[in-house]
Amino acid sequence: MAEFEIINPSNGELVTSYPLMGPDEVDEAVKKAGLAWQSWSGASFETRKEILTKAAAVIAEDAERYARIVSDETGKTVMDALMADIYPVAGLLKYYAKNLKKFLKPVKGEANIFLPARKSYYTYEPKGVVGVISPWNYPLSLSAGPVITAVAAGNAVVLKPSSQTTGSGIAIKEIFEKAGLPEGVVQTITGSGSVTGQALIENEGIDMLFFTGSTGVGKMVNVTAAKRLIPTIMELGGKDVAIVTKNANLDRAAHSIAWGAFTNSGQTCIGMEIAIVHKDVYEQFLEKITKITKDLKSGDKSGEIGSMTMAAQLKIVEEQVEDAVSGGAAIITGGKRDPDKKGLFYPPTILTGTNMNMKLMTDETFGPLLPIVPYENIDEAIEIANSTEFGLSGAIFTKDMAEGRSIAKRMNTGSVNINDVLITFANHSLPFGGNKQSGVGRYHSKMGLRAFTNIKSITEFPWDLYNKEPYWYPVLKNGDLLIKEALRVLFSLDTGKRVKAALNAILIILKGRLK
Ligand code: NAD
Repeated sequence: MAEFEIINPSNGELVTSYPLMGPDEVDEAVKKAGLAWQSWSGASFETRKEILTKAAAVIAEDAERYARIVSDETGKTVMDALMADIYPVAGLLKYYAKNLKKFLKPVKGEANIFLPARKSYYTYEPKGVVGVISPWNYPLSLSAGPVITAVAAGNAVVLKPSSQTTGSGIAIKEIFEKAGLPEGVVQTITGSGSVTGQALIENEGIDMLFFTGSTGVGKMVNVTAAKRLIPTIMELGGKDVAIVTKNANLDRAAHSIAWGAFTNSGQTCIGMEIAIVHKDVYEQFLEKITKITKDLKSGDKSGEIGSMTMAAQLKIVEEQVEDAVSGGAAIITGGKRDPDKKGLFYPPTILTGTNMNMKLMTDETFGPLLPIVPYENIDEAIEIANSTEFGLSGAIFTKDMAEGRSIAKRMNTGSVNINDVLITFANHSLPFGGNKQSGVGRYHSKMGLRAFTNIKSITEFPWDLYNKEPYWYPVLKNGDLLIKEALRVLFSLDTGKRVKAALNAILIILKGRLK
């Protein structure tokens, strides 16, 4: 089988190579998952809990090795990998281990006078085989998140990680195997998006798709899934904005936004891509964040910021800077690669003087650029924040919490942090996902676990109570009169009419007109 190579983006060295799987290998994996699912779908809540708990221990005990796998493939620092790839995975495993029984137990239905003597409830049942397609920016966390959720809900999974971060995808399979998950329940297929990914989304054995990646590819994937009416969850691109009001704690705002913009070299879907700052505090804020940014240690992997991961993404960053500068923007710090550096390093960059005609202000950057824009009134700030096609996340900095909440309400995004950045994602009890072109559906939380299930409504009637309902055939004589009176009893707003209808209903029954 043909193979593809993984190159470490921070130094250009070969990491390893993997087989390029085609439709036959993908089909084999999906069939194997389908078989494994038949018994896994019946696993008790206790068994699932035990495996998830063990998996959290496996990753935590071997955290350094897993963080290095991530770091070698992405160029990010080991610290970034530990914080944003290892911790969220262990945390989510523990969260669902603790809560899955509570979230997935049957829910009782309400009593209904028209349906006497019935017991009613609904259950959450696994969907089957879930296809998971994931990106390279947080390769362990963003692959494991949907895999963990699918497995906790009783599904089997075929995972297609980004080809650049295949090792992280294979690590997830290994973690679950070490935790005692039966063979075949989680499988990782290796290869490109256009061959291996395409074969996965077209495979008839897939019952649900969870996709994390760009909006463009997400839309294509969704069209293919729609042809078979496969449910999808789409976690797509973003253009997240931080609003700094004149009331803000500027030191916290500057530290927080610098981290939100530059962590993982800005390759974070919920990273801060624009800061909009009240004109009265603009200069002060700019000075503070510029100092923090200039002091950042970047340019090699022992620093605070690693390299970018993909050459194509770095090119987008360079093009956006060029476009902004040619339109009149000024670079306050960064803005140019060090030509002597071998890896894909790009310095954290702050720009001013940008406007909404620049790509940097409208398109996703997914790199370490931060334009800082002054605003005069909050309506203007919110208009800029809501003006892009995306709606993933956002941040607000203010000492006035009522003001913060009122701005949060007006931001058209799936999440908002007040006096913070990014961290709604790290709270597993909060649903995560985007509005507009940033996605469809949510994961994490109770709602996210249930999204990986089919809901089945059930009623039970005691078999020996009576043999026939009044509306079954042959329809009872005067049954229609009884129903009319019953409707008045239940829904009329006039007490007199309700009492009269109740008496009429009793008469109908007593007179034996119903036989
Ligand atoms: P991408 O869309 O290029 O690729 C995502 C995945 O899709 C990869 O595994 C790729 O191999 C696969 N793929 C590509 N073509 C395919 C096809 N025809 N059929 C099936 N699969 C195919 O995205 P990327 O460059 O890996 O990731 C960066 C993007 O992901 C950014 O836009 C970022 O905002 C977004 N992202 C979103 C979230 C979120 O939670 N909303 C999180 C991280 C990244």
